[in-house]
Amino acid sequence: MAEEEPVRRLGVVFSSPFPGEAFVSWVDTVAASLRVSRAAALRTLGLPGSARFSTHQFHLSPEQLEGLRRRTGLRPAQVERMLFRFYAPTALPQLAEDNGSIAQGARVSQPWLRRDHSAACPLCVEASGGRWLLGWRLKWTFLCADHLVYLVDRCPRCGLRLYWRLEATGAGQRTHCVRPAARNGRGGRRLGTTVCGFPVAEMPALPVGDEEAVHVQRRVQALLTLADVSHNRPRAACCSSSS
Ligand SMILES: [Zn+2]
Ligand SMILES: [Zn+2]
Repeated sequence: MAEEEPVRRLGVVFSSPFPGEAFVSWVDTVAASLRVSRAAALRTLGLPGSARFSTHQFHLSPEQLEGLRRRTGLRPAQVERMLFRFYAPTALPQLAEDNGSIAQGARVSQPWLRRDHSAACPLCVEASGGRWLLGWRLKWTFLCADHLVYLVDRCPRCGLRLYWRLEATGAGQRTHCVRPAARNGRGGRRLGTTVCGFPVAEMPALPVGDEEAVHVQRRVQALLTLADVSHNRPRAACCSSSS
């Protein structure tokens, strides 16, 4: 297993975030490792395990970040790297309004955001054991420059979007399509016992034949993750020039 060393707190072992992982994916990884529902995992992490969960993908309050630090040992910067807020300086400037006080993300205009689902590189999902990247939630991310395939965002069997945010779909969607198999039958939505089940790792992804597309994606990626660069820069060595 190539997993990073897990974080231990309160007698519970929490999986560490994967580099670039989205918050919802990490929560689901925690849920899967603890063998509990996503809602229960959120409560274990000190967050409301409610249907309003999607707001936590935008930002967390300082109190919630501190609660996570106490429970998991994760620094606030590590958690914020998993939230949409990370892209406020670049792709999602609307999240930077009001100096950080975001209206729960509910009314945010989102032309570049896959808000309620995710695209994915099936080969990355397979290699990471089911970690979904925050960058895949941006429409700016259209291919995987590591595996040279275009991202997929719909299940080839049922045609529904991947990694739907609703809690009912649960942690299983890290590796499989768990959308309801019966879309039109009267009982199709009851209990959720019948799911599509198509493995994400086996979803066919279109190979990238255009080298220029890879260059463009790499360039866009670099522009979108400026915050990663400034995070790693020694504090005293920056800020000598504004242009
Ligand atoms: Zn990939
Ligand atoms: Zn499906």
